[in-house]
Amino acid sequence: MPELPEVETIKRQLSAKLKNKKIATVEIKIPKLIQGISIFKFKQLIVGAKIKQVRRRAKLLIVDLNNRYSLLTHLKMSGQLIFLSKFSADKINSSTVIIYFFTDGSVLLFNNPRRFAYVKLVATDQLTNIFSEFGPEPLESAFNLAQFKELLARRPRSKIKPILMDQHWLAGIGNLYAQEICFYAEVSPFRLVNSLSEQEMKKIYQGIKKILPMAIKYRGSSTDQHYVDTDNRPGDYNAKIMVYSRQGKKCFRCGSIIKKIKLSGRGTCYCPYCQK
Ligand SMILES: [Zn+2]
Repeated sequence: MPELPEVETIKRQLSAKLKNKKIATVEIKIPKLIQGISIFKFKQLIVGAKIKQVRRRAKLLIVDLNNRYSLLTHLKMSGQLIFLSKFSADKINSSTVIIYFFTDGSVLLFNNPRRFAYVKLVATDQLTNIFSEFGPEPLESAFNLAQFKELLARRPRSKIKPILMDQHWLAGIGNLYAQEICFYAEVSPFRLVNSLSEQEMKKIYQGIKKILPMAIKYRGSSTDQHYVDTDNRPGDYNAKIMVYSRQGKKCFRCGSIIKKIKLSGRGTCYCPYCQK
């Protein structure tokens, strides 16, 4: 599932590709994908609009238009955004749900194999409201160790891994990177926040600041086969994954067998020897 590094990869690629393009027309194959607005109104507002900028908040992708509206896309489990410099019918498949056509002949495909993703069109000045539901952005410089400790202090009885995935608490981290961060910090995903030492808090913080940018550098992870970047290429971070989905295999650090358990309903892999 796309998390911060995957959505950030898409954002960076689309920023370069879509800036100043004008939407010529849009084809919507699954109308219920568009939420909170009628298809008629949606089309009326986006056709003819120009792309001002592409942004990301948490796992949301935001495309600001020059008409004071913003397109908001959540890829959920398996959404894909694929850019084509010119239209080609053989690139359309049964999972293609929206096709944006630009006036220069380029195209953006929105594929949604598992049908959980959504698109909204909201007034740009409403975004502050929407954004306020999320916790801090972990890659912003304002997110420092002191702020991280402050966040931890608010949730002393939570387990560390589920809380890392709580979007209201901290934005962008999901099941894969939460496991990788716990492994990096040598902390068991079950640990209660109030049991963490100063050193462990610092290591978790460092894990967040190290792993997320590294994953962006490798254009994210494609462990579930669905995630691809805007050029339809899988991410290369798979090769760097230490624990996620590695149950039964040897720990790269100590050689013990990686275990998998359910934690707050989510499959969670960890090394029982390295992570205490
Ligand atoms: Zn180990």
